[in-house]
Amino acid sequence: MIKTTEASAILLRVPPLGAEKKPLSEALGHALAENIHADRDLPPAERSAMDGFAVRSADLITPPRELKLAGELASGSAVRLAVTPGTCVRIMTGANIPQGADTVVMVKKADDLGDRIRFSSKASSGENIIHKAEDARRGELLLAQGALLGPLQMGVCAAVGRGKVIVYRRPRIALICTGEELRDTDAAVEPHELRNSNGPTLYAALTTMGFPVVGQKIVRDSLDELVAQLAIFSALADVIILTGGVSKGKFDFVRAAVESIGATIRFHGVAMKPGKPLLCATLENNRFIFGLPGNPLAAMTGFYEFVVPTLRRLSGIQASEIKPSFFLATSSRITTKGGRTHFVLARLENGISGLCVSPLATRGSSDFVSGGRSDGAIVIPPEIREVEAGTIVEFHLWKPLF
Ligand code: AMP
Ligand code: MG
Repeated sequence: MIKTTEASAILLRVPPLGAEKKPLSEALGHALAENIHADRDLPPAERSAMDGFAVRSADLITPPRELKLAGELASGSAVRLAVTPGTCVRIMTGANIPQGADTVVMVKKADDLGDRIRFSSKASSGENIIHKAEDARRGELLLAQGALLGPLQMGVCAAVGRGKVIVYRRPRIALICTGEELRDTDAAVEPHELRNSNGPTLYAALTTMGFPVVGQKIVRDSLDELVAQLAIFSALADVIILTGGVSKGKFDFVRAAVESIGATIRFHGVAMKPGKPLLCATLENNRFIFGLPGNPLAAMTGFYEFVVPTLRRLSGIQASEIKPSFFLATSSRITTKGGRTHFVLARLENGISGLCVSPLATRGSSDFVSGGRSDGAIVIPPEIREVEAGTIVEFHLWKPLF
């Protein structure tokens, strides 16, 4: 059995899958496999930050003063106007500053007299002007390789003319839920049967994170059937995730099946609670197989804490974005038996002194009802058995931010 820190260290070294060129519109949620630079100065010219009048500040040294209106500039106008002494130009937000002007006076600080504009106060040079290259110089690095393309980063690519970007390929996933007792969601169930909840949970989690699920199957506790299904899915998917059948019971065939298709076991058993029987194996070409325990909370803990970081590594996401941790005060006391890393289900709550985490009482690793009330888990290291209320703890957000 290895420590959680050792399992994480193994998985964080996983190299990314290959890169591919994609239209920007299809690149959301991918990590960049190239650096993105400014293709020109941003902004490329001096621009007005306000609707107002472009003037020469030297003309307004002794207000009040009337200036002749020499024209107007809309945003996007290619017209070249000049502001000569004694004149001004009406200008809209975003329009390029006309030659000769060095400041913009806001509309509400001027009186429009028709062909003349009256100014009653001074204006200093540079006011309400966005300077050329103020945001970035041509060639400057804007987004580094490994950066995740969210909506704001997509905007940066679009602004610098990158209609196509080189991104890392996202792993294709196949799901296998093992167990004789499992039935589909809408099936009638006998007392010895159970509806498959791990499959829909994992499918939903993977889909919200943008990982394509290329296959999904319930397989009975049969070595032959498992081997056959693994063989099919290993030809389609980069990562196969199984639930159930990974412990030491007589009908737990996942390890034997994984070995019989030629995969190498990287670890089996992690010092954590819940989720100890976690199995990780690899096939050639950077392909992975994860065996999660069947109990829903154990499965989810293994999935969010170890599978998701691996999927993110395979997707080329930079190390700093792999495991988003928040350090927050716990609203109540937590005790554990120690010896293993405990992942304690918790909810985010707005306390009087700001955001805190509230640990949830669970009745063991099969308690999917508590799972449905949680936002993530508090991580308690093996050497700690007691945490007082108010202590800052490490919290991992599992809930997606839609
Ligand atoms: P196992 O790890 O196969 O021994 O499964 C442990 C327990 O987890 C089973 O007895 C079931 O109660 C539960 N379980 C297994 N697979 C699922 C599943 N797909 N959905 C919900 N519960 C499951
Ligand atoms: Mg089972």
